[in-house]
Amino acid sequence: MEKTLIILKPDCMEKRLAGTVLNRFQEAGLDIVAAKLTRLQPALLREHYAHIADRPFFPELAQFMGSRPVLVVALQGEDAVATARKLLGPTDSKKAPKGTIRGDYGTDVSVNICHASDSPENAAIEISRFFAPNEVYA
Ligand code: UDP
Ligand code: MG
Repeated sequence: MEKTLIILKPDCMEKRLAGTVLNRFQEAGLDIVAAKLTRLQPALLREHYAHIADRPFFPELAQFMGSRPVLVVALQGEDAVATARKLLGPTDSKKAPKGTIRGDYGTDVSVNICHASDSPENAAIEISRFFAPNEVYA
């Protein structure tokens, strides 16, 4: 069984869409195996977004991501990484089709409701970034 790391971003929390978004994943057969509410600090955001930390939009992104507590969740199921990314839609909410989470609820390329791991390898790294081994019930 594959796992993936999900972050319900500040816009998702502010819009009170946590239950709605988690329901999409659960209806697709993914199980919650870890969860925590946390406010993301600058050092952790630099690590999590290392692949884009040198891009001009990063400071604004980091400010947004740290603006309120977010729900961090590990999901488990068949093809969990691809399943979650498909439900989420493309990064830019404006280009995301209706019926995807970002297409239905996102604002733009930055404020886009939810993070999901992009590969099983990165999922393992990201899950261990946010959870101790005994916090993952898999
Ligand atoms: N992002 C942004 N501007 C961009 C591209 C990305 O603000 O031009 C933000 C956006 O919140 C995105 C995150 O950086 O979700 C991570 O980017 P990535 O390319 O990994 O997209 P994702 O995997 O989230 O679809
Ligand atoms: Mg990504």
